[in-house]
Amino acid sequence: MAYLARKYKILGLIGDGIAEEIVPEAVRVLRASEEAYGLNLEVIGPHPFGAKYWLDSSRKASWHPEITRELIYDVDGIFKGPVGLPSLLEDVKLNYEVGFLPVGLRSELDLYANVRPCKLRPGVKSPLVDKEPGDIDFVIIRENTEHCLAEATHFGGIRDIGGYFERAGKVDFAADVYIQTSKGCERVIQYAFDLSRRRSGAPNDRKRRVTCTCKWGLLRGDTLFKRSFEKVAARYPDVEADYAWIDGWAYWAIMRPEHYDVVVTPNQYGDIISDLSGAIQGSMGLAAALNAGDEHAFAEATHGSAPDIAGKNIANPISLILSIGMLLEWIGEKRDDDRLRAAGKSINMAVDAVLGEGKVRSPDIGGSSTTEQVGNAVAQKVRSTELD
Ligand code: NAD
Repeated sequence: MAYLARKYKILGLIGDGIAEEIVPEAVRVLRASEEAYGLNLEVIGPHPFGAKYWLDSSRKASWHPEITRELIYDVDGIFKGPVGLPSLLEDVKLNYEVGFLPVGLRSELDLYANVRPCKLRPGVKSPLVDKEPGDIDFVIIRENTEHCLAEATHFGGIRDIGGYFERAGKVDFAADVYIQTSKGCERVIQYAFDLSRRRSGAPNDRKRRVTCTCKWGLLRGDTLFKRSFEKVAARYPDVEADYAWIDGWAYWAIMRPEHYDVVVTPNQYGDIISDLSGAIQGSMGLAAALNAGDEHAFAEATHGSAPDIAGKNIANPISLILSIGMLLEWIGEKRDDDRLRAAGKSINMAVDAVLGEGKVRSPDIGGSSTTEQVGNAVAQKVRSTELD
């Protein structure tokens, strides 16, 4: 009897800068996995989203009108390219609104865990000398709805808790409010421990380990984060509870990255250290991410719109391609669908195969291939993989 694949709806959002180059490659790989794994995917869009759309549209809005609240709740998953055009820096209000697009979407859908793997892949050189694939393989779990980014929602408009304050008619000081709740801390820390249980431990000693990093003792919210960590850690005796102040972590991540398995941290620190881990794994162009909640998820690369290379067809699409693989795996888990899980895994394997062969690679990792050539090579590898 013919296999009737369940239909999944996936919404695509384009974004700015290199988004216009890397999003089509991510769609190409998604379509290849649909074909290879017999999936039934309805890809909606990808629709314009971000600063460029705001500038181009007569509506002066940053979302395409077809991206409605009903739609983002209805789809099985979302992927988006990076947003932001630094040329808009002069327009503070617009910049603020566009900067908060991903943040607003994360809050709207309550995507409390930002999952950001840092893995040295075959054929890729880390700036850390003598590191080989296998030496670096950790995942940062960035809390994604609180800290100093707690106040933004998109559909409700941006609700500020802090603000700019004037004296004598001039902006004289600005305040940002840093919020941490017990619920917000505990659920993301639990996510980190559950993830560690599904992994095979840190590269140096194969111990399952979750590292809590922030600035407890100095900041109250961070002290609450650490206390929540201790409470959750007590429920996971099989996973080592590890601690590092955030400044110390930045040091140790360079000196002994192989010690780390899963690292959990409040929002703003997670944002910063994921760019550090982008460098450690060889390029921001390899830095994938998934924003995950209990009911919804969206895939986006860790990096921004890379205006310095936009329009040159040299951006590395692997970051977004890997993010799409993470999204397929996430949907596969939620809907208990082995084909989707396998398709997601195959994207990860296809990327390693292309990087390992070393024939097709973009300039950020020492090659001269175009964005399109990299997308094509990964899509071809996905097609040539087979179900067990
Ligand atoms: P960036 O991440 O865009 O770029 C940092 C460096 O990494 C640049 O040299 C860039 O060329 C390189 N890089 C990034 N992605 C790459 C890829 N796929 N392939 C090859 N090289 C790549 O950071 P930035 O320049 O600080 O920010 C640019 C804009 O992006 C800003 O407007 C910022 O607000 C926005 N931004 C958006 C998001 C998001 O949408 N989630 C995240 C971060 C920054």
